[in-house]
Amino acid sequence: MAWFKKTRKPIKANEKSSRVPEGLWVKCPSCGRAIYNKELVDNAQVCLKCEHHFRMSAAERLKLLLDGGQWTEHDAGLRSTDPLKFTDTKPYRTRLETSIKATRLNDAIIVGSGRLDDVPVVIASMEYSFIGGSMGVVVGEKITRAAEMALESRCPLIVVSCSGGARMMEGALSLMQMAKISAALARLDRARLPYLSILTDPTTGGVTASFAMLGDLNIAEPKALIGFAGPRVIEQTIRQKLPDGFQRSEFLLDHGMIDVVIDRRELKGLFARMLRMLLVSRPATPDATAAPAPALTQ
Ligand SMILES: [Zn+2]
Repeated sequence: MAWFKKTRKPIKANEKSSRVPEGLWVKCPSCGRAIYNKELVDNAQVCLKCEHHFRMSAAERLKLLLDGGQWTEHDAGLRSTDPLKFTDTKPYRTRLETSIKATRLNDAIIVGSGRLDDVPVVIASMEYSFIGGSMGVVVGEKITRAAEMALESRCPLIVVSCSGGARMMEGALSLMQMAKISAALARLDRARLPYLSILTDPTTGGVTASFAMLGDLNIAEPKALIGFAGPRVIEQTIRQKLPDGFQRSEFLLDHGMIDVVIDRRELKGLFARMLRMLLVSRPATPDATAAPAPALTQ
């Protein structure tokens, strides 16, 4: 029984007069500086003071990498069918509908083809705000089709990872995507077509354990969280304290897990150089299913 009874309704805050329009100013989580949103957009979502890399949406990423910010989208209509009729705190179907409405995407990835510094490419870019960028059947299928499209049109493939891992609401079906994508990438490799993987913050779980680490070059953004299991699980398993900076790009570079850590603003230039180098050194074989080329001998 309550001692006091509220007889009057609480005073409503006057939201209209004091609210700053959403998204006009953004506070940097690293240095605390308030940044004018337009400045941030002009600077590829990188903090002007401390170079903190803000998370980018899948579409912004494509815009950044492709010439004229233009691409042709593929398989945009693919949607998950909720094969397990899964429910946790809320039904998976409801979760999907909410994400589709909020992101205006049908799943956590956009596949687009276009030109990168005049080199034709296929790019698959993951969207974190769609159920944590998780990899379900649709993401798996779209990356596989992207690899097949690259194979057919004889051009390089780029995958931008930003994901919490496999989508548990699709159970084993989401885990099967790891093998499916890896098999498609192996065919791309046999055809000697370049595959570049970009790991952004965060890239974890089944995504790290499959296509994100299979690139001819695995490129990471500064201070991105990259790992398979979370640090707490690892600490409990090995019963040791983990070192500082564990599972961050720089740590992984020092330990040979990735090839390069690069500022986002230099990413396109690096890609242009790398793609040209790889395309010259690895001319595509006419037959995609051909056996791997024998090792070069002197
Ligand atoms: Zn900052």
